[in-house]
Order: sequence, then structure tokens, then C-alpha cells
Amino acid sequence: MTITSYNPADPTDLVVAVEEPGAEAVRAAVGRARAAQGDWLAAGAGARSAALGRIAEAVEAHAEELAALIVREVGKPLAEARGEVARTAAIWRYYAQAPYAPSGAVHETAAGPGLLLTRRRPYGVAGLIAPWNFPLAIPSWKAAPALAVGNTVVLKPAPEATACALRLAELAGLPADVFTVLPGGAEEGSALVDTADVVSFTGSTGVGRAVVRAATERGVPVQAELGGLNAALVLPDADIALAAAHIAAAIAGYAGQKCTATSRVIAVGAAYEPLREALVKALEAVDDAVCGPVVNAAARDRLTGAVSSAAEAGASVLTGGGVPERAGWFIEPTLLADVPAEHPLAREEFFGPVAVLHEAADLDAAIALANDTPHSLATSVHTRSLDVALAAADRLDAGMIRVNAPSSGVDFHLPFGGAKGASHGEREQGQAALEFYTVSRTVSVLPGGGA
Ligand code: NAD
Repeated sequence: MTITSYNPADPTDLVVAVEEPGAEAVRAAVGRARAAQGDWLAAGAGARSAALGRIAEAVEAHAEELAALIVREVGKPLAEARGEVARTAAIWRYYAQAPYAPSGAVHETAAGPGLLLTRRRPYGVAGLIAPWNFPLAIPSWKAAPALAVGNTVVLKPAPEATACALRLAELAGLPADVFTVLPGGAEEGSALVDTADVVSFTGSTGVGRAVVRAATERGVPVQAELGGLNAALVLPDADIALAAAHIAAAIAGYAGQKCTATSRVIAVGAAYEPLREALVKALEAVDDAVCGPVVNAAARDRLTGAVSSAAEAGASVLTGGGVPERAGWFIEPTLLADVPAEHPLAREEFFGPVAVLHEAADLDAAIALANDTPHSLATSVHTRSLDVALAAADRLDAGMIRVNAPSSGVDFHLPFGGAKGASHGEREQGQAALEFYTVSRTVSVLPGGGA
């Protein structure tokens, strides 16, 4: 079998083809990574910090090449691809400081002389499984903290993002077996979960749940960041034009292929009519520089199929729904209303530039509707009222609540993750990631006598 990735804007353009390595190759790579881990840890904080800093510099030095590769391999619009490259460099630079951070605390003994310490230590080999939609940033926000604290890493990228991951490992230039990228699909992913010492997964909910079960069965720590069914709540006091601009960007930016994209818009009371009009206008103004194609033909067909089936079930298509006459896997930014509550489009993540507009009588009804999903990743709230913003922050089930901002958007130095079924285990990013990739040891040192 061969792993291939194609340019979503030009499906005749084969970006990369590599032999699928198979499960045995994964086990061998993890074995080599385990053998390399002792030296990587023993190299010390200074060496690890310098190595991570050099990766940030290498990413910056190749920024345009990397942005072009992201555009070509996963169809991300250029401005967003450049943003992702800049964020990738920032992530490596941020974690380059981490090796110097305190790794524990000193405590008093309860009685008598001695020294009690806690000390965080790496697990060994971090097995990282990534999706394709942030082909440099997600592998980096997993690998950088894992490496900073002294683990070695085996990364299995999504097949659709193979070339980006291989280039990242090449540019990283770390010692042999410290940062291995092993292309592959489900077989390699599952072999990695079966052999790594700590597992971090980002991807769809179904696959993530299986990964969590398998890692838990082995007793190894696991975190999983999964899909979202993200809502935008718009209150009547909001600046409707500004809210519509933010929400259109969150629906259609990168063709809605962000786990934090908005797929449900909930207008409260008098906000409904003006928002519907403004949002349709904003979505119709979206161009390729913002939206771009979806990742492959199957994704496009799944989206158009869901839109037609919702329309047959009584939904109105307020804008979009069509497939432009052109090469590439494009679909028009789409907004529907009156989608039956149990239709899959209202309940599942479809991962495309398609959203459903709902009406809620008041804030309570809007919060109840927003919370009526297990896929609670990010919710945006559009209001000028501090009371509403605070109520939302208290009562929404989301892992990320963004007031007067698109639901999509991530600050790399803050904890990132969802609520309820959208997330499992420790948060990613920021300081939280350093905790995830280490385990705390308690050390008691008592006098040896004879002094
Ligand atoms: P996916 O679940 O199809 O694949 C994710 C990764 O898992 C890939 O590397 C894939 O090869 C691997 N994999 C597949 N089967 C496996 C198995 N049985 N065992 C181990 N690994 C396996 O997801 P995708 O299509 O690559 O990415 C899109 C999804 O990712 C969306 O659902 C999106 O919401 C989600 N996502 C979530 C976040 C987040 O942080 N919450 C961020 C980005 C993307």
C-alpha cells in the first residue's frame, strides 16, 4: 500500500507518495526512540532549549516554502497558511524556554530532618497522532512540549498531510531517533498507541474514543482533542454587522475545516432577522482567499449530500449549497434555516463551510440549545453586555468561550481543549502540555546517619 496526498485545489497534482511502513516499522521506530531517550534527557536543559530554538529559526527561515506546501497539500488559503507557519515558529520558541522551568518543589518533612521533593520526569516515547487540518501547528504543539521535558517523539501525521510533517522533521534537524515522523494510516496509528509510553491524539471523535480506550487498556496516559459542533450566540444588543463578519469567517474560513469552526448560529429574539440578512451577505462576499477547497472528494460529497437531505427534510437553504463549476474540491459557503432538530446537520460535525441558523427566544433558550451537544469545543458570544458575557462564561459547556470574536482562533500559550465529549485528559498547549508529558515523583531524602 502507498500513502498519497493530493492538492485539494488541483486533484491531478500528487503532492507525495510513500510506501506505507506497516505496524512492524512503528514498533521498530518506537524501540529506537526509546533507546535514544536517555541521551536526549541527559543532554540537559541547555541543549534541549537550544535545539528547540533552532527549530523555531529553521521554520522562520523557510516560512514561504512551508506556507506554499500547506497551501498545496491541504488547500489552506495562503494568508492562513502564513499565519500557521508564524504560529509554528512561536510554539517552538515558547517551548524552548520550558527546559529551564522548575521541575518540582521542595517540602518540609512532617517531623524530623530530611528533604522532601517532587520532581517531574518524562515518560519515555511520546506517540503523537495528528489530523491534517493544521499540518505544522498541531504536530508542533504536541512535539515541542514533549521534547522540551525530555521525551523522544514518534509522530504519525494524517495521510493527507504527509509531506508537511516530513518536511518539519527534516527542518528540525534533531539527533537521530529523537523526532521521528512515520507516515501512515489507521494501522500505523493503532500500532503507535500500542507501543508508546504516552499518547496524544487529535482528530475525529470516533477514532479518538478508540485511541483513548486502547491506551487506557494499556495503562498509558492519553489525551485526545476531538471534533466540535460549535455555536455562535448573537444577542439583540450586538453590533450585528461585526458579529456577522466574525461568524462568516468562522463558518467559511479554511472551508470550515477547523475543529473550532462555527456550525450552529443561534440568534436571540430580535437579532434573528437582521443577523440572517447580514450573515447571508457576508457569506456571499467570501472568496477563495478566505474559504478554499475542502480536503477531498469524499468530504465535498458528504457535505453536499447532507445539505440536500436537510433541504428534502424541510430546511431552507439561505445561501450556497452548490458546487462551483471548476477543478478542485470546492463547495459554496452555505447557511440553512429550519433544519429539523434531529437532522445530522444539526447534531454532527460535518467539517465544511456549512452552518445552520437557529432562533432562540431568550438567552436561557440560546444557552440550552448551545449546550445540547456532547461536542462542546468552542462557543462565541456576540453582545455588548458584560452581564451576558459573564453568564455565558459561567453557563456554556464549551472548553473555549470567545466574546465578540470568531469561535475559531487559538492562543498558542493558553490551555486548549473542549468540554464533555470533545476532549479527554489534560489540556494541550501552554503550561498544561508540560504537565501532560511528565509524571511527578516524590523523593524523600533522610539523613544517612554517621555524620
Ligand atoms: P481522523 O480522526 O480521520 O484522523 C486523525 C488521525 O488519526 C490521522 O492521523 C489518522 O491517520 C489517525 N487514525 C485513523 N484511524 C486510526 C486508528 N484506528 N488508530 C489510531 N490512529 C488512527 O481526523 P482527520 O480527518 O485527520 O481530522 C479532522 C478531525 O480532527 C475533525 O473531526 C476535527 O474536528 C478534528 N480536530 C480536532 C482538533 C481539536 O483540537 N479538538 C483540532 C483539529 C482537528
